[in-house]
Amino acid sequence: MKVFKFGGASLKDAAGVKNVASILQRYKNEQLVIVVSAMGKTTNALEEVVAAYVKQTGKALELYEALKERHYAIMRDLFEADDEVFSLVNDTFVEGEWMLEEKPADNYDYLYDQIVCVGELVSSKIVTAYLYKTGIKTQWLDARDVVCTDNTYREGWVIWEKTKTNAQKIVPPMLEQGYFVVTQGFIGSTSENFTTTLGREGSDYSAAIFSFCLDAESMSIWKDVPGVLNADPRLFENTIKLDRLSYKEAIEMTYYGAQVIHPKTIKPLQNKNIPLYVKSFLDPEAPGTEISSDMEDNYPPIVVVEKNQALLHISTLDYSFVAEQHMARLFQKAADLRIFVNMMQNTAISFTICVPNVPDRLSQFIKEISDEFKVKMEQDLELITIRHYTQESIDNLKKGKIVLFEERIRSTMHMVVKNVPVIERREVDIAGSKA
Ligand code: ASP
Ligand code: MG
Repeated sequence: MKVFKFGGASLKDAAGVKNVASILQRYKNEQLVIVVSAMGKTTNALEEVVAAYVKQTGKALELYEALKERHYAIMRDLFEADDEVFSLVNDTFVEGEWMLEEKPADNYDYLYDQIVCVGELVSSKIVTAYLYKTGIKTQWLDARDVVCTDNTYREGWVIWEKTKTNAQKIVPPMLEQGYFVVTQGFIGSTSENFTTTLGREGSDYSAAIFSFCLDAESMSIWKDVPGVLNADPRLFENTIKLDRLSYKEAIEMTYYGAQVIHPKTIKPLQNKNIPLYVKSFLDPEAPGTEISSDMEDNYPPIVVVEKNQALLHISTLDYSFVAEQHMARLFQKAADLRIFVNMMQNTAISFTICVPNVPDRLSQFIKEISDEFKVKMEQDLELITIRHYTQESIDNLKKGKIVLFEERIRSTMHMVVKNVPVIERREVDIAGSKA
């Protein structure tokens, strides 16, 4: 069996749903588990609903109503007025409404997950009904019956053994009866049956969880780009599509912020040697990118830009050397506050880290260590990672920038640079002479 994942961009309107169905028609004779995200920007819209609800601005239901209407408009394009999908989808929306009508008594992250999951639940119902309508035998699966997590709301940690047992019990009988299985990305449930989410853009990861647990022969992510490129085409010209990529390379890229795949996706696939294809839903015949264990050592420079970084220069108040016990405390604090350290460097009396700039967490961090440390912070920075760098690629990327901090380890170069206009495309030939 194979696992396919379709993201929000592929399901943003009725034409998108029809296109997904036409892609799936080609696989009619295969066993497929299809993982879908919420339609278009639904998750962002639901986040606004949650914020309005928790702050009790009085706008939550209105925002929710608008989102419902966008779904119904798509459905009116896809189905006859009396199709039973309308009541199925309505039931799901109503569950969300019940929550929104109560006073928000529980913690934010918990409430977030109970409401935001509606996006994936309704999109999967719409896709299932549409496939059924076009003559593809399809069953809807509640991912929460399979994906089991702890109760870290908004960042659920998968409990693998239980998830695997669930998957192997529930999914194969559906496939063996000739059904496609359509399920939700991004969501799971705790042992008490509360909904959790796996972190923003987590549907890729869900597809990897299903692939791993069911020993899929391959997984495919269908996107609006031709495959994995060697840099973000919104930022750079002359990008190159990579035909093949090793798991290791993909992990390095996504860890440092390449947004093409969710960073947690690769590891479960690598553990079972399941190839991952990144393909275009706009050009389904094109080969895309294959990510697998096959080594390809002739990569062009691969550039990842992670914006909105901060540098923290940390030194001891008593001018003592920054020693292991200090670092142990600093890292423990960073871990507790979920501050991810992208880069670090120390000298005798100071220690510098590059971290994503999440203001409330960083100010909390600085406050909590202020008994022992002094911190100087620089904001509005970018972390540029170049894998397989060449001197030419480095020189080109440094043009017009102030480099605050750089480091090279084997084939990876990192540099933290100062503020570059956000949407400007850089006319840099990052492939250099290798293109
Ligand atoms: N719908 C969720 C999000 O937008 C999950 C995903 O798209 O992967 O974050
Ligand atoms: Mg999405």
